[in-house]
Amino acid sequence: MKNGLFNPYFENSGGGLFLANPSGGAFFLKGVSSRRLRGARLGRAAEVFLRDNDFFSGRLDFRRLEERFGEHYFASYKGPHIHIVTLTNRCDLNCVYCSASSNASSADMSRATADRLLEFIFAIKNDRLVLEFQGGEPLLNFGTLRYIVEKARRLNRRAGKKLHFSVVTNLQSMDAGKLDFLERHKFAVCASFDAVRKVHDKNRVSAGGSNYDRVERWLKEIHARSARGEGLETPNAICTVTRDLLPFPAETVDSFVKNGLYRIQLGPLDPLGRAAKAGTYPQERYFRFYRKALERMGELTLRTGRAVYEKGAFNILKSTETAGRSPRRNLELLMRLAYDHNGDIYPSDEARMLANSGDPFFRLGNVRSARWPDVLNEPLARALISSCFGEFSQPYCARCPYSYYCRLSPVYNYIFQGSFWGNLPSSPRCAFFKFMFGLVLRLKRDRRWRRVFAIWLREGGY
Ligand code: SF4
Repeated sequence: MKNGLFNPYFENSGGGLFLANPSGGAFFLKGVSSRRLRGARLGRAAEVFLRDNDFFSGRLDFRRLEERFGEHYFASYKGPHIHIVTLTNRCDLNCVYCSASSNASSADMSRATADRLLEFIFAIKNDRLVLEFQGGEPLLNFGTLRYIVEKARRLNRRAGKKLHFSVVTNLQSMDAGKLDFLERHKFAVCASFDAVRKVHDKNRVSAGGSNYDRVERWLKEIHARSARGEGLETPNAICTVTRDLLPFPAETVDSFVKNGLYRIQLGPLDPLGRAAKAGTYPQERYFRFYRKALERMGELTLRTGRAVYEKGAFNILKSTETAGRSPRRNLELLMRLAYDHNGDIYPSDEARMLANSGDPFFRLGNVRSARWPDVLNEPLARALISSCFGEFSQPYCARCPYSYYCRLSPVYNYIFQGSFWGNLPSSPRCAFFKFMFGLVLRLKRDRRWRRVFAIWLREGGY
């Protein structure tokens, strides 16, 4: 190996060595271990890649390095493109772990606020725009949803942005008329779904009969309509892994598949809202559940030839496999903003929920008075931006090979540890990422799992 390897971070994994470096290069060297790295004979393709990506100290191009740092983080930055809109804090379910702490008496977003919200969002120069409606239960303020969508379409005739809509809903108050509207505007519908009937109906308490039945019924209808043509996207679902679900990893996966959901999302219970009181559990139990659920996805993938995969594991697989990495590790503010029903602006939906629990630490302003450049100039916004540079600002991340893929989050640090920067050696979020990376990289060493992953990579989508 000529010219010496310059400062790589590495991890032995998957029958080889995973290398990353501070200028953004990442490479997987098959059949090489860290102990044999210095004297290793690399193939031509590996040599060229490592040379062109600043791994060799003798070939370091400082001008290119400077450009890469800029490009990697902010040179092409045009503002957030995902906008999470809370239409109401009301909800028609009474979930025992509700992180939004919704209740029947809270307020709806008014049309006046919706007007200012659209003004604020359309002033951001990004040419992509995703409006994601949440709550509470967003379908309970369907009039405002309709108003925002139709007005956004009108504004976009001049703005010419790539405009996309989605809604996260419990489907309790879905009806044919609402679904017609969503179909006309090509919505992505994401259902809240706890997968196992007895767990779902125990956690997602409904005054009007089983919510599980309604979710199944509407998922079927959305599938049927999306298969017919140009309108609705294939539905998605988010599953919150509560303590009651922990004994049922395989059943959870089977239920997703039975409902035509092959991309599975298994989120641990975060200590927000009612969940903080109603049953958090040791993280190791989530990891056990997750390993077993992933094993079931592997079995079903091989048996059916169809990719049955978990979104988080898939993202890690894809980005480490292709050395593709997100330029911005902290998504809060940089890629998305969240808006409360009264127009308050937050860097994420979790930050908004935190404010609803009584702590508005992350409030960035209100759409009635703020403009995007003002928000960006707030000291809090600048601190959020600097948190993207974990390899410089977090000693624990500085030598971690996962730091370019990891999703840092000051909001989570604050919620879990009461500190903007957190204490990563004892952070559950850091432990979560290390678990996920370790698991995927370990499975890549297994011949059977390599077949599974090949199907995921061929057929899976984000
Ligand atoms: S948070 Fe943890 S896993 Fe992520 S980059 Fe930092 S040390 Fe690595």
